[in-house]
Amino acid sequence: MSELRWDPINKEWIITATHRQDRTYKPPRDYCPLCPTGEGAFPTEVPAEDYDLVVFENKFPSLQALAPEPAVVGSDLYPVARAEGICEVVLFTAKHDGIMSKEPFSRFVKLVKVWKDRYEELGEKDFVDYVFIFENRGEEVGVTLQHPHGQIYAYPFIPPKIKKELDSSREYLEETGQCLFCSVLEEEQGDGRRIVASNDSFTAFVPFFARYPYEVHIYANKHLPSLKEFGEKEIEDLALILRTIIQKYDNLYGFPFPYIMAIHQQPTDGSGEDYSHFHIEFYPPYRTENKLKYLAGSEAGAGTYIVDALAEEKARELRETEPFTG
Ligand SMILES: [Zn+2]
Ligand SMILES: [Zn+2]
Ligand SMILES: [Zn+2]
Repeated sequence: MSELRWDPINKEWIITATHRQDRTYKPPRDYCPLCPTGEGAFPTEVPAEDYDLVVFENKFPSLQALAPEPAVVGSDLYPVARAEGICEVVLFTAKHDGIMSKEPFSRFVKLVKVWKDRYEELGEKDFVDYVFIFENRGEEVGVTLQHPHGQIYAYPFIPPKIKKELDSSREYLEETGQCLFCSVLEEEQGDGRRIVASNDSFTAFVPFFARYPYEVHIYANKHLPSLKEFGEKEIEDLALILRTIIQKYDNLYGFPFPYIMAIHQQPTDGSGEDYSHFHIEFYPPYRTENKLKYLAGSEAGAGTYIVDALAEEKARELRETEPFTG
């Protein structure tokens, strides 16, 4: 059972997906559904002895192309809708214990190419308004399958967090004639204290307004609304800076650093070319080597984040942390 329920108070859709209760939860390693199917072993999601990068549709999707009618009847106050969309899984490597920061540059290039391909293909579907590419990494952020993978949700609407950003950027454009994200990047580059890494096409920084101590955003240096506008140079430069940031994260305390990674770019409903700006946001839950940041009263109940660290200091720590070599 899956449907969209409208929350008129927060003005956003909630997806119910009760069938997801049955999904695979922390399986023993011999029964990982994301590993290649071994000889004589139980069949996994990938019927091959080995693979490079794989994309397939999620077996327990929150959104489906042929979504059933809502199981409940809505009202004027509480509209309901079919949970139409597509959920895909991206397997980064066939290695169950693989660690992306130790993977070669070429694998990151392939990954960015896969993201671009999926963004374009899913975005062309008329019921898809937003292609959201993300990764949950580590048990600390609720990962149930340890095998390195990311996900793609193709939503039938622009999700609220992203809509809020885009509304701000559109208003800013109307007032100043500039893209808000271009201005944020200029401000960060002008100050310089929060920059973590950069190359010809991208800049990574801990934003002035970071909500998590080690929050990093990677912005396209040029006003590129989405992956669609990426050429070979941008693909390679994104692969490069992505690998650098993940290596710095893993090298910071010497263990694979958990995070939520979210890619924000132009909606695929045709809107926002002037005021959408490709960027990636990382939200790591650790605030020190062994302390996690929990969303508590002020964050969860009031939406106001309290951060016990200075973005300038955390950026310096990350800047001074060497990426792995080799
Ligand atoms: Zn596996
Ligand atoms: Zn811009
Ligand atoms: Zn964003």
